Amino acid sequence: MSNYYINIVYLISAVLFVFSLKWMNDPQTARRGVISGVAAMLVAVIGTLMNPAIVAVNYKWIALAVIVGTVVGVPLSWVPLTAVPQRTALSHAFGGLAAGLVGVAEFYLSFSSSGHELGHFRAAALCAEVLLGFLTFTGSLMAAGKLQEIIPTRPITYKGQNLVNIGLLGVAVIGCIVLSIDTNYKFIFPVIIFLALLFGVLLIIPIGGADMPTVISMLNAYAGLSAVAMGFVMDNKLLIIAGALDGSSGLILSIIMCKAMNRSFTNILFGAFGQVQAASAETQQRTVKSATPEDAAQIMEQAAKVVIVPGYGMAVAQAQHRVKELYDQLTKRGIIVKFAIHPVAGRMPGHMNVLLAEANIPYTDLVEMDDINPEMPQVDVALVVGANDVVNPAARTNKSSPIYGMPIIDADKAKSCLAIKRSMNPGFAGIENDLYYAEKTLMVFGDAKAVVGDIVKYLAGENNSH
Ligand code: NDP
Repeated sequence: MSNYYINIVYLISAVLFVFSLKWMNDPQTARRGVISGVAAMLVAVIGTLMNPAIVAVNYKWIALAVIVGTVVGVPLSWVPLTAVPQRTALSHAFGGLAAGLVGVAEFYLSFSSSGHELGHFRAAALCAEVLLGFLTFTGSLMAAGKLQEIIPTRPITYKGQNLVNIGLLGVAVIGCIVLSIDTNYKFIFPVIIFLALLFGVLLIIPIGGADMPTVISMLNAYAGLSAVAMGFVMDNKLLIIAGALDGSSGLILSIIMCKAMNRSFTNILFGAFGQVQAASAETQQRTVKSATPEDAAQIMEQAAKVVIVPGYGMAVAQAQHRVKELYDQLTKRGIIVKFAIHPVAGRMPGHMNVLLAEANIPYTDLVEMDDINPEMPQVDVALVVGANDVVNPAARTNKSSPIYGMPIIDADKAKSCLAIKRSMNPGFAGIENDLYYAEKTLMVFGDAKAVVGDIVKYLAGENNSH
C-alpha cells in the first residue's frame, strides 16, 4: 500500500490517541477513552504492517513477536488493582527496551549496505532514543522491583550522589554529541548504552518505594520522549505524535502528583527524594472521642448533607461496595451525599475513582478537591473512610510538618466529622493527624468494610432494636 494511505491510517490513529487522552480526563468518559486508545494502537499497528518495506520482507518474525508479546502481556493484565503501579512500570521497561533495541539495530544497519546512512540530525535523534530508552528500561525495572518489594524499598543515598549521577549522564551526553558529529567513532555507542543502563539504576536507588508512582509517571515521560526520537530516526510521524502525547501527559501527571504531594519537581528529575521524614519526637498524650457504628448511623441520619472522603484504607479494606450501600441508604432518605476526591488519595493516581466506579457510584457525585472544599463548611458530616494524610490539617498550619503545603480535603471545616480507621496509627507520611483529636470529630474504630457494613445494617433496620 502506498505511503499516502498509510499516512491517512496514521492520521486516524493520531486523532484517536488525542481523543483517548481527552476522554480519560473525566470519569464519565474514561471507558470510552480506554477503548479509543486501544483502537488507536490497533490502527497504528495495522498501518505499520501495511508498510511496503515490511510487506516486502515477510511477517514470520513479526508473528513470533506477537505471540511472545501476547503470552507475556495477557497475564500482566490479571494483576490486582493494588499492583497496577508496578505493572505499569514493567510496561514502561519493555517500551524503553523496545525503543533502545530499535535504535541499536538502526545504528549498526546504517553501516551495512541495506541501511540508510545516518546524517547528523538522525544520529543525534538515535543517540537520544537509545539513551532515554535504556535508562527507562533499567529505571522502570528498579521501580517495579521496589514496589513489589523484590529489592529493598528504602532510599539508598551516599555523599556526592547527585554529582556522580549528573557526571555519568554528562559523559553519556558528550558521547552522543561526538557520535552525532561523526558516526565513525563506533566504539562510543556501546559505552552510551552501558552508561544509560547504569544511570537508570542509579537514578532510582535514592528514591523510597512509596514515592515510586510519581517516578513511574516521570519514567513514562522519558519513554515517550524516546519514542519521539525513534520517530525522527525512522521518519515515522505517528511515533513522533504518540510519543509526544505520552511524554507530555507523563510529565503533566508527575507535576500534578508533585503538587498534590507537596514534592519538589526538580527533586524527581534528579532523583534523591522520597526519604520519609521522621515523625516529630514529641508524643503528646491526647485523647480522642470514639463512637460505635450505630452512633455514626444515627448522626448521619440527622444530616442534610454528607461528604464521604475515601482514602487508602478503603482500598485496603475493599470497602467500596459497602460504601455504595451506605450511599444508597443515605440518598434514599433524601440526604445529599458527595465523595471528595483527593488527587493522591490511595497509592496511585485515580485510585479512588477506579474503586468507586467499580462499585457503581454515580460519577456526578465524585467531586474533585478544589470543587468540594468551598462547600465543606456547609457539610453536616464529613465521613472519612480510611483516609489520613489527605485530611490532615497540619498540611495547612504546621510549617515543620513533612506534608506542610500539601493541599488537603477540608474535612475539619465540616460541622462534624466521623473518621473510620482501625487504630491511631499514622498514614503514609508517618505523622499524627490533629483532625482525629478535634472537638467535632468522632473516631469509629475498625476495618472500613466491617464498620461501614455495620452502619448500613443499622440504617437498613437489620440491627435496629429501637
Ligand atoms: P494514608 O496512607 O495517609 O492513610 C491511610 C489510613 O487508612 C491509615 O491511617 C490506616 O490507619 C487506614 N487503614 C488502613 N487499612 C485500613 C482498613 N482495613 N480499614 C480502615 N482503615 C484502614 O492514606 P490517604 O489516602 O489519606 O493518603 C495517601 C497517601 O499516600 C498520601 O500521603 C500520598 O502522598 C501518598 N501517596 C499517594 C500516591 C498516589 O498516587 N495516590 C502515590 C504514592 C504515595 P489504621 O492502620 O489505623 O487503620
